[in-house]
Amino acid sequence: MSDERVFASVKDADVTRAILSSFTETLERHVSSDVVVVGAGPAGLVCARELASGGRKVLLIERNNYLGGGFWIGGFLMNKVTVRHPAQEQFNRLGVRYDKACEGLYVADAPEACSKLIASACDAGVSVLNMTTVEDLIVRRRRVSGVVVNWTPVGALPRQITCVDPISIEAKVVVDATGHDAAVCEKLARRGLLEMAGMGAMDAENAEDAVLAGTGEVFPGIIACGMSVSTVVGTPRMGPTFGAMLLSGCAAARAAGRILDASMGAPARETVRAG
Ligand SMILES: Cc1cc2nc3c(=O)[nH]c(=O)nc-3n(C[C@H](O)[C@H](O)[C@H](O)COP(=O)(O)OP(=O)(O)OC[C@H]3O[C@@H](n4cnc5c(N)ncnc54)[C@H](O)[C@@H]3O)c2cc1C
Repeated sequence: MSDERVFASVKDADVTRAILSSFTETLERHVSSDVVVVGAGPAGLVCARELASGGRKVLLIERNNYLGGGFWIGGFLMNKVTVRHPAQEQFNRLGVRYDKACEGLYVADAPEACSKLIASACDAGVSVLNMTTVEDLIVRRRRVSGVVVNWTPVGALPRQITCVDPISIEAKVVVDATGHDAAVCEKLARRGLLEMAGMGAMDAENAEDAVLAGTGEVFPGIIACGMSVSTVVGTPRMGPTFGAMLLSGCAAARAAGRILDASMGAPARETVRAG
């Protein structure tokens, strides 16, 4: 082995300290957030990016170690994603290359589209807590005011060895971007606080407009975004086309911005760019 060193000399304990202090600083800063976005699929990533670029304190929580949700793959395990006009403008913004498949329909490589979308959220200043599952909500006076989280692996362990209490994160607005599960809204539904209609049958022609129209506050403090809208409101599913996910993220960010402005008694300001 050569004596010539390439890397700086650092103690093992320094590596541990760097991880601990940086992680704790990020978590502590977001224990009280403006918005917690749950689910880092295409809808959640766009929503979080738009809010963070408008100066809001945003925490994006994802149960997997990877971000991107279903956006890495199009339909049938094939890594091409389609969007209908006008959602290709989101691709233009991200610098994603795409082809025109036919009038009004565009196709891109999923890995390129997904990785650039993730990068744009990070660049905008979104903080991410991955490997973390939202397992319950804070509800006070019929308003959601935060989430209850635990490490994802805790939920995978046998019950008898997982007496691990979760922790709470407060937020003025919580966005349910958990896809078909609508896992955030489900916490209200199981307590009889919210009725969920269930996702309708496939109808690609009408489903995307319906998801966009249904994006918004479904319970005080909770905004449904992306495919969770379909499960909560009961709109048709749309098959593997992602334009509504991207534009629903923009619409959810605008809705959250309005709630935040109203909570501060401030006149509504346009904190996010139009989708
Ligand atoms: C059965 C099935 C049917 C589908 N049908 C359609 C369809 O009809 N139309 C369509 O466009 N796509 C469909 N898809 C593909 C895919 O769900 C969507 O296209 C798209 O990725 C949804 O975007 P999203 O951002 O709303 O959610 P997703 O891409 O699903 O992202 C949601 C994210 O939330 C995370 N999450 C979930 N629960 C929690 C929690 N409790 N805490 C923290 N994180 C959480 C997940 O890990 C995931 O990363 C289908 C997928 C499945 C499995």
